Amino acid sequence: MSSLSSAGLNTRCVHAGTQRDLRVGAVNTPIHASSSFLHPNDLSPSVCYPRYMNIPVQQAVADKMAALESVGLEPDPARNVRAMALSTGMAAVSAPLLGLTKVGDHVVLQADLYGCTHWLTVNELPRHGVDYTLVRSSDPEAIAAACTSRTKVIYLESPSNPLLRIVDLAAVAAVAKACGATSVIDNTFASPINQTPLSLGFDVVVHSGTKYLGGHSDLSCGVVVGSGERFDAMFNWVVGVGCTLGMQDCALLERSLKTLALRMERHNANGMAVAEFLDQHPRVERVNHPGLPTHPGHDIASRQMRGFGAMLSFEPRLTPAEVRTMLTRLKVITPGISLGGVESLATLPAETSHVKMTAEARKAAGIADTLVRISVGIEDAEDIMADLDQALGI
Ligand SMILES: *Cc1c(COP(=O)(O)O)cnc(C)c1O
Repeated sequence: MSSLSSAGLNTRCVHAGTQRDLRVGAVNTPIHASSSFLHPNDLSPSVCYPRYMNIPVQQAVADKMAALESVGLEPDPARNVRAMALSTGMAAVSAPLLGLTKVGDHVVLQADLYGCTHWLTVNELPRHGVDYTLVRSSDPEAIAAACTSRTKVIYLESPSNPLLRIVDLAAVAAVAKACGATSVIDNTFASPINQTPLSLGFDVVVHSGTKYLGGHSDLSCGVVVGSGERFDAMFNWVVGVGCTLGMQDCALLERSLKTLALRMERHNANGMAVAEFLDQHPRVERVNHPGLPTHPGHDIASRQMRGFGAMLSFEPRLTPAEVRTMLTRLKVITPGISLGGVESLATLPAETSHVKMTAEARKAAGIADTLVRISVGIEDAEDIMADLDQALGI
């Protein structure tokens, strides 16, 4: 992998981490269909076992993710970036929140959180004796003001769901360093192709690999990236709790990652085209996409992201009932939950991801009942736009 430390994203996607079996000369990393391994084994000093994440295909996919999230980092042997593949995105979210905290600690989180991360914060952290502060503003100074001497983790998402809010990552990383906390980001919406937070000073990156990393809506997994003792602590938590990713799914994730940069290129182009199309559509009130110059986070996003991504949301000039009808008229875009797959998907956050919030809480958070979120796929942009146009024409 060291020979790849200056390689581009596409090259890393294809080659980083691959472990070849030279006895048969297979080009790809093998899947060892075994949960029992020889012991003692003179050729392998460590005991292989899937939950320990030391099977070649588990290591290969972890090394590939470490290489992707290291883009923009100076190669530094003292800061050996490592990754691990877990069973779900929530396992990855839990690893820093539960694995890096203990009774009496405090966590600061940005209020714009994935629904289940919000649930975990509100329900599980207190049960483990950890208290938290949710910060509504994305201003780094507001985050700094919420930190205390007990703050161990600062956690955020950028771009966030579903309003695509952008946080200044370098500024928040500096806040975390100043107060001695670990900075953690859920990088699911951007993927390492569009954003590498470690290069902006973040300590830990987590992903729902179920989304762009898997990319085909057929895989459930998560990834954690970090270094040093923090990584060791999260690793021990994961091995102890047992939320590692099985070998077959690791192979599927490794295969998906080979085309990640290629897919993101099309996702980015389509996301931008659809955002601009909706932005000038007479039936659309407002579009949230960080690539639009009118987006409040556009300047920061331009600085810290390589691409603006394919997640967007918009408010049509329609009643809630008309919006529901609009979704049923879509032919290319599928009304469906989740995101990040090759197919375009549309959801109403007020009825899906944010249904557990009260109507007032949603309103306070800026999530209108008519807000439509689109995960723009890799189909032809013209077909996606024509589909939206005909559906909006009710
Ligand atoms: C989907 C998602 C998760 C949770 O991932 P699962 O694979 O469903 O556990 C976490 N964060 C974000 C931003 C997500 O979109």
